[in-house]
Parts: sequence; C-alpha cells; structure tokens
Amino acid sequence: MADQRQITVAGITLTVLIERKAVKNINARLRDTTLHISAPQSINDTALDRAIIELAHRLIRRVHKRQINNEEDALALVRQVAARFPNPPVIRHATFTLTKARWGSYSVATGTVRLNAALLRMPRWVLEAVAAHEIAHAIHPNHSPAFWRLLRSVCPDTDRAQAFLAAVAWMAHSWDDLLPVERALLAQMHDKIDDE
Ligand SMILES: [Zn+2]
Repeated sequence: MADQRQITVAGITLTVLIERKAVKNINARLRDTTLHISAPQSINDTALDRAIIELAHRLIRRVHKRQINNEEDALALVRQVAARFPNPPVIRHATFTLTKARWGSYSVATGTVRLNAALLRMPRWVLEAVAAHEIAHAIHPNHSPAFWRLLRSVCPDTDRAQAFLAAVAWMAHSWDDLLPVERALLAQMHDKIDDE
C-alpha cells in the first residue's frame, strides 16, 4: 500500500505518494500537486525523505522554467513596450519572477524591470500595462501626476489594468472563504455585466 504525506517545497504544498517496489532507483513523477514516488525496499526512511525533498525541488524548478519565459523573452517584451514612449528609456535587464509579492518593480540602480510571472497567465494587455508602469519609473521614480500623465499617454489601458489586478488580488485572497456554490457560480461568469 502507498504511504501518503504532505510536504511544502518552494511555497507549494504537495501530496507525496510513496510506493516501495522492486526498483533500483528512486523515481519521481509530478502530476498537478501530487508527487508519485517509487522507491526500492532497501532504502531507509531518512535517506528517502532527503531524496524526496531534493526531487521535489528539482521537479518544481523544471515546471517554473517551463512557465516562465527566459530573460531574453522578458527583455524583448519590455523593450517593445518601451519603444512606445516618446523618449524610450534604456532598459538593461528584464525578468519574470515568482518571488516578489508585487506585480512589478523597477530598479534604478541596475536598470532592471521585474514582472510577476503570474502576469503571463493574464491577458496580454494587462502584462503590457504593468511593463509600461515599470518602464515609466525609469523616467519618473515616483507616482507623481507627471508619472500618471506619461503612463496613461503610452498605455491607455492603465486604469483598466489596475482594476483587473485589484480584482485578481481580491479573488486570490477571498477564494478559500467562498462557499463551493459561490466558487462554481463565479467560474461561470463572463466579462459582461449584462446582455445589453
Ligand atoms: Zn509604481
């Protein structure tokens, strides 16, 4: 019978199913958030636990790599958006990151735009609006009226994108508190308020 437990690796909780088998090596397969492990009978629990954590890290890294375009793609996107500015600022580096609890950031010191990797799952205009916001910080390192004027002139979707992201954050924070029936109803919603 399979032994089952939960582990948390890189902020992601996984269910681990362990099967002792007549195999030579420890094998791991990740399906959604379930990690299937087959292990030889001979290996002791401590060694197996250590191996599972290492394998989980490796598999999650691989999934992240697949989801996140590499630095070159991020830079290409950011430079494409920067070209819409009247005096395009020079962006030296751009990257998608999973770590920061923000949608984006700009470092004046290194000329780096960081974009939250979750944006890759959202409509393109939302991703581009966050990129434009961070690029605008290369010109105005604040949220002054001049910053918003410039940003809205190069990105007319600015306010719409902010509302979209506020809704995403609200949903992410509220999801666990919603009743299953409420979640089911929300999953069927479309983006029009009514049919008019
Ligand atoms: Zn800002």
